[in-house]
Amino acid sequence: MTQLQLDDTHDPSATSWVESANGADTDFPLANLPFGIFRHDVEERPRIGIAIGDHVLDCLAATRAGFFGDVDPAVRDALQSWTLNPLMALGRADARAVRRVAHRLLSAGTAEGSRARSLSADLLASNTAIGMRVPAEIGDYSDFYASVNHATNVGSMFRPHHPLLPNYKWMPIGYHGRASSIVASGTPVRRPRGQSVASPDGPPSVGPSARMDYELEVGAFVARGNRRGDVIPLSVAEDHLFGLCLVNDWSARDLQQWEYQPLGPFLSKSFATTVSPWVVTLDALEPFRTPAFVRPPGDPAPLPYLDDATDRARGGFGITLEVWLRTAAMRAAGQPAERLSRGDFGSMYWTLAQMLTHHASAGCNLQSGDLIASGTVSGPDRGSRGCLLELAWRGQSPVTLSTGESRVFLHDGDEITLRGWCEREGFRRIGFGDCSGEVLPALA
Ligand code: CA
Repeated sequence: MTQLQLDDTHDPSATSWVESANGADTDFPLANLPFGIFRHDVEERPRIGIAIGDHVLDCLAATRAGFFGDVDPAVRDALQSWTLNPLMALGRADARAVRRVAHRLLSAGTAEGSRARSLSADLLASNTAIGMRVPAEIGDYSDFYASVNHATNVGSMFRPHHPLLPNYKWMPIGYHGRASSIVASGTPVRRPRGQSVASPDGPPSVGPSARMDYELEVGAFVARGNRRGDVIPLSVAEDHLFGLCLVNDWSARDLQQWEYQPLGPFLSKSFATTVSPWVVTLDALEPFRTPAFVRPPGDPAPLPYLDDATDRARGGFGITLEVWLRTAAMRAAGQPAERLSRGDFGSMYWTLAQMLTHHASAGCNLQSGDLIASGTVSGPDRGSRGCLLELAWRGQSPVTLSTGESRVFLHDGDEITLRGWCEREGFRRIGFGDCSGEVLPALA
């Protein structure tokens, strides 16, 4: 393991004057400081916020109050934007400078903290009085397929004798997704309509999808981009990664099965994708870096452009991921959500850096604010499968719920919530916040 790049912002003993940030189970302690875009309920202008406990630091107000007087003027301008794109475009060093100022400003026992506390009515918003938005203007969204467990499980349902295609262990497989239908957590998602077939050769009928599913994924926002034609070497790939969020790649399996050959998923995925609204920076995630997945004997080594010692030593992220379901019946009975699965992002066959490097390797220019998603995160056990297609094994083993209900795919009124967090001895636990969406009935 290479040396961790730690500073005062990772100090587990630092406390905030925002009391809710000091609890052991908050997703947003002083060590996290994720960026998002929020809007006060009473006004239209979206602004950049930093989550702290159950509050949000208003970066526009903090900049106007002079707290970012020592950072580069370009950074101050970026902090007053209504999207994160300008801050992402400046790159990771400037995001780190903002993080350090925010840490002092929100700390108990610093001069900046005392002054900020006296201005807290202007600087802080309660997270119950704001709305969160998609954190960047996402120009392009690409979705990978980097869990070998997911690829093997799904492949074995459709091709029992050769579940993994020959390219899988040589390159991170992906497809170009749809950016326009990405929504922030909390936005309801309408069941799509489309073509599906009762037998493999058709003919199709048109109607509401009967096999709507979620996919548990991790997303990465691009920081600095690359010029068209330029590659991004693996050794600098993480300089182009701003931070991570959770992604639910909603999928209509019946539409997907009929349309996906020969060019891949299309309408079965593009009706909606939900993201968690807070972008957890790579700096916040530094204590939780892990080695890349260790390939079993017999697997090919990655080609040289997808392989280096640093990526092998610390290309992974130790993120625990969960999926929770609250059905309409649970809501009606006042029952809480029920956990469907728990997995680990460390089980991914390819690292995010490898995905980014591969994405740019043929000359594709990535732009600040682009979103890259990992693909469904599934571990080796049943309890760590990241979608219902796998959990209920294509309908063969329904998931039984405490209400007596069962699921093979999602019903109208089901609310899916993804959660993720990092824990390590000697550090503060940090989390991602919820990535939620409720399924609405299809339009008639
Ligand atoms: Ca996906």
